[in-house]
Amino acid sequence: MKKQEKVRPEIRASTAIVGAGPAGLLAAIAHGAGALLLERNPDAGRKLLVSGAGQCNFSNNLSREDFLRACGRAANFLKPAIYQFGNEDFISLLAEAGCPTLIREDGKAFPASLRAADLRDALVRQVLARGARLQTGVYIVDARRDGDFILTARDGRIIRCSRLILAGGGCSWPQTGSDGSVYDLARALGHSIVEPRPALASIDVEDYAHFRDCAGISLRDVNAVFRSARGRHEARGDLLWTHTGLSGPLILDNSHHLDRGDSISLCLLPGAEEKLPRILRQHPRHTLLNALKFASLPESLIRALLQHQGIESGQVCAQLSRPTRKRLVALLTSLRLKVSRIESLKTCMSTAGGVPLAEVRAKSMESALCPGLFLAGELLDYSLPSGGFNIQAAASTGYLAGRQKIY
Ligand SMILES: Cc1cc2nc3c(=O)[nH]c(=O)nc-3n(C[C@H](O)[C@H](O)[C@H](O)COP(=O)(O)OP(=O)(O)OC[C@H]3O[C@@H](n4cnc5c(N)ncnc54)[C@H](O)[C@@H]3O)c2cc1C
Repeated sequence: MKKQEKVRPEIRASTAIVGAGPAGLLAAIAHGAGALLLERNPDAGRKLLVSGAGQCNFSNNLSREDFLRACGRAANFLKPAIYQFGNEDFISLLAEAGCPTLIREDGKAFPASLRAADLRDALVRQVLARGARLQTGVYIVDARRDGDFILTARDGRIIRCSRLILAGGGCSWPQTGSDGSVYDLARALGHSIVEPRPALASIDVEDYAHFRDCAGISLRDVNAVFRSARGRHEARGDLLWTHTGLSGPLILDNSHHLDRGDSISLCLLPGAEEKLPRILRQHPRHTLLNALKFASLPESLIRALLQHQGIESGQVCAQLSRPTRKRLVALLTSLRLKVSRIESLKTCMSTAGGVPLAEVRAKSMESALCPGLFLAGELLDYSLPSGGFNIQAAASTGYLAGRQKIY
């Protein structure tokens, strides 16, 4: 006798949303009843839980204009989303859900409890309060269009919907659930994918041995020039020395411009051309190491810089030769370091690459290639700075996508 095949009932929804990170959660909140939010993990927002070292820096207090200015080439694309759902809207929505906000002195926004889980839980409460459904443990492995969208889950379940929002994130920290599988779903529906690359990543530096003792030193507002095959790029920001290289906002925010072998020039003492001769004149009997402490640089960094350049730190200032003075000025105004490695996608904080912005309509987040399909969040090919930009942008693009209903 022929064995009877088990027929699984189809799940139907007017709108299905793949991925319950900030983009998917806000899409479900904006859409309300009729939305079915599908998440592969047993619970929503696992990346939110690790964000901001567990405190979740979800936005900042910049005006919409300043926020967009910091978004670089993605600014025009993100404009309608940020105007539809900006930081104030996010803060009010969280307050309504019982999660007040703390704005730190540096302008960064966190849940007042400094617990990412409180923010995540508040968003899930809002999803349910607005009549949307959340199903966890549903890993979508295929998507196709046959009039409706037909999604297949890994366990064989079929989900049919007339409108689909892909919000599965990028592929950094894949253990949080965003493993890049959503790229395959976008591809299956006609989209191209810009090769994913690490963003918000620290770097390792070649010949770093002398700088190992500098780990933990952070310098404010350092000017840097990044040189790569793509060209020359200048930036300014806070810099952190690590055991193997460099990090901090200056590096994280520009890492997507870098590849192995590229170089970074750091200006550690702006105006060194005037400052250095003055310091040397004022402290003629001091050793170079002691005199340079008057340049307000940490001692271990001065020691490392001098070793790196092969300059004897015990020389007395009055006896410094002209060429050595020149080399010192060059060292302090443009310390050139070479990138030996970029932190990998496994550990960096964000993914550059993904669905090209040109394939998505900025005013609605609808696909320009597949009507009824919407895309939101880190899945899109934008790279934003650290400081609350990524979660806010995911929330804003998700909200905009969720607002578009089929009447
Ligand atoms: C360590 C770390 C710290 C960070 N700190 C900050 C910070 O303080 N501030 C900030 O702004 N940004 C921060 N970020 C970045 C920020 O968390 C992300 O940019 C943001 O979460 C992206 O939101 P998203 O909704 O697009 O994707 P995600 O948050 O990645 O959510 C996507 C969801 O989709 C699910 N999913 C994926 N594929 C499928 C599938 N096939 N089927 C079903 N479900 C699927 C995933 O499980 C996941 O839950 C940090 C990132 C990391 C890794």
